[in-house]
Amino acid sequence: MREPLAAGTHVEGQIDWERRFDHTQQHSGQHLLSAIIWQELQAPTISFHLGESTSTINLSGGPITPHGLESVERIAHEILGEDRPVTSGYVSRAEAEAMLAAGQLRKLPDRQGSFRLIDIADCDKNACGGTHVRSTGQIGGLLVRSVEKVSRGVRIEFVCGLRAVRSARADFAILHKASALLSTGAAELAPTVERLLTDRHYQQLMAECDREIEQLMQRLDGKSDPRQNRPTPPANSGKQKHRKNQFYFEMAPELHRIFGVDLTAIPGISALTAHIVLAEIGPQLNRFPNAAAFASWLALCPANNKSGGKVLSSKTRQTNSRASRALRLAAQTLARSRSHLGSFYRRMRARLGAPQAITAAAHKLARIIYHMLATGQAYDETIFLEEDRKQAQRHEKRLRKQANAIGFQLVPIAA
Ligand SMILES: [Zn+2]
Repeated sequence: MREPLAAGTHVEGQIDWERRFDHTQQHSGQHLLSAIIWQELQAPTISFHLGESTSTINLSGGPITPHGLESVERIAHEILGEDRPVTSGYVSRAEAEAMLAAGQLRKLPDRQGSFRLIDIADCDKNACGGTHVRSTGQIGGLLVRSVEKVSRGVRIEFVCGLRAVRSARADFAILHKASALLSTGAAELAPTVERLLTDRHYQQLMAECDREIEQLMQRLDGKSDPRQNRPTPPANSGKQKHRKNQFYFEMAPELHRIFGVDLTAIPGISALTAHIVLAEIGPQLNRFPNAAAFASWLALCPANNKSGGKVLSSKTRQTNSRASRALRLAAQTLARSRSHLGSFYRRMRARLGAPQAITAAAHKLARIIYHMLATGQAYDETIFLEEDRKQAQRHEKRLRKQANAIGFQLVPIAA
């Protein structure tokens, strides 16, 4: 409007009916909801807000239980279904005050003159100057979307008519998208999210533990001199995904510093295995006089259970040693290793079966670890050639002795 209208000017207006009807539905729904909550839960409406997408009612008192809410929604839909008339009429202040005293009115505005009363048949009378539906059926539907505790009571968010359908549709779209993202059904969404949060919580705890381990390890004296340019194991590339049981920091270089040798160079020995050896035994193996004592302590040698000269069992001792378990696990990973140790494991498995092969390979790993820690020598596969040669020598010596004892002689086949 360019200039103010003069009194008495004839104007023509047009109602945006879609908008008017929507507002009428929300507003009438609020009358109904406030009335039912007052009757059923004795919670008076203090204020309400009719918004662009949802509306709210502030109640004093509360809390509202799910059961209470359900009965309010049920009664509201019964009244909607009965399509009760909604009428309006005028009463004087005196009449209105009498009705208020008789409990026929919920409240009365603090002003003089006559009052326009909106009457939902057999349900509610309330003074109001707004726009209302002709009958409760026109409200179309009533959905309470949330109940939240606020400083002076409870706030109820609700929608009526087509808004109820739209908001339920929008809620479903969110639910559908979230469950698709987690590849789960809508009903499984909450437990799935709960599980993810728990997992993340434990991952954080594990990362914290690792940080503590890292700090503790940094306090341990190392055998390798950082000034010397010794080769450190290659660091994991940042692109790698974090795997289960993997440390959240570069464990291998730390272990190399402390042990003075890189145990992870041994096929099958991961940083985790080496760390378990460190945690259980320490950086030195002084307490074991030789490799055999070390392997025996780890219960990786057959301990013959003899009685009266008869071997009852040659199974290895049972042990709760974490290091022993870790070495057995490491031995199992040799099944796919192309190294000398890998072929040793596969040879033993073919001959003795997996359980014995695991013990034998774990025994070998224990001996290699002992040798490396005792001598400070790096892992070297060629050592095995020497070991194989020595073993063949021992074997030959034993056979010669046996042959000798029964009067035979061992003669090598001429090449
Ligand atoms: Zn009204």
